[in-house]
Amino acid sequence: MIDLVAVRTRLGVLHCPVCKKSSDFSVHPRGQEGYTEIIHTVRCNQCAYTFPISILTKPPQLTDPDTAEWLKRLGCPDCHELGARLDFRCRLTVRESVAFVTCLACHRAYHERTPMEAYE
Ligand SMILES: [Zn+2]
Ligand SMILES: [Zn+2]
Repeated sequence: MIDLVAVRTRLGVLHCPVCKKSSDFSVHPRGQEGYTEIIHTVRCNQCAYTFPISILTKPPQLTDPDTAEWLKRLGCPDCHELGARLDFRCRLTVRESVAFVTCLACHRAYHERTPMEAYE
């Protein structure tokens, strides 16, 4: 499972959806453990906006077949192979979610906006 230091580093590619300026986020170290995921709160260090990130504790093949399907069809921007592993995802706003994934073929880490129905 991905650790929070890595989460914070990877969040640096995003801009805060509220102040739009900051890519400087803190991840709250204590997560809320659910059945399939751990939810951590992320806070923008510029404007204090918070949003949740979710780290799955069970493989999505078992708990979330839609997301598992979606991951299988993701194309890597580097090697163009299909298929990625979900590292974590965040719900930036009610309308915008981003999945942080790793290519299964070349292990490149990248991120993708997720279709919201992947959550239902
Ligand atoms: Zn902000
Ligand atoms: Zn790749």
